[in-house]
Amino acid sequence: MSAPYRLAEMTTHEAADAAARGTVVVVPAGALEQHGPGMALGTDLVRAEAVVGRVAERLAGRVVVGPSVPVGVSPHHMVFPGTITLTTTTFAAVVREYVTSLHRHGWTRFLVVTGHGGNNAALTTVAQDLLVSHPGVQLAWSPLTSLAGDAVAALDPSPVHGHSGEAETAQMLHLAPHLVHTDRLEPGTTTPDQLDDVSRAARHHAQPTLTLPYDRLSANGVLGDPRRATAEDGAAIVTAIVDRITAFLEEWPAA
Ligand SMILES: [Zn+2]
Repeated sequence: MSAPYRLAEMTTHEAADAAARGTVVVVPAGALEQHGPGMALGTDLVRAEAVVGRVAERLAGRVVVGPSVPVGVSPHHMVFPGTITLTTTTFAAVVREYVTSLHRHGWTRFLVVTGHGGNNAALTTVAQDLLVSHPGVQLAWSPLTSLAGDAVAALDPSPVHGHSGEAETAQMLHLAPHLVHTDRLEPGTTTPDQLDDVSRAARHHAQPTLTLPYDRLSANGVLGDPRRATAEDGAAIVTAIVDRITAFLEEWPAA
């Protein structure tokens, strides 16, 4: 039987051995937020955990899968029922305290794989602070879908696409089809002319950044047309993501 690679399934002696071997701790992070009328609230965590599980299988013995962070930074989705948000400071504190706890036991490299873009800014903040407070720690984080730009482009998604759209729905059809209600999928905002002037302007990069609640972007919380997603497209996207995260981990120097 192979050795456990999930921290929660290890004994304290096995954890000590894993840290001494220089393993990387990989932590899935998600969100509990609306994903339109046809997909589950836990979509981002499902995708992050699935990707991390596949990466861990490929890198057997070289990574330890840490406990997930199941709820993330989702204030922009709070108008939609079921959504839970942590403040940025709470989310950052959870990640920082996972990392600093495990650093005391000898681990130095950590990768948070987040299925939710709303966590990105807080993860960067934690990594910046650790440079000063814990110079012996390396904290990396990775998004999912944006690692697979080529595979997403191959879907020929709507001019406006993203949250709960073609690419995200395709991943779920591949990974967890029981959480996709295909009969309830509805298109959301698919073209820039469906956005109001402020929302449209906020999508451009060459100007100040404006953070808006999601109902300003899409009445049903969806960007793109999830009805066009297929499990085959999802498999291509997930494979590209797993390939890129695995390559990063294989090349990551220990110090
Ligand atoms: Zn999502």
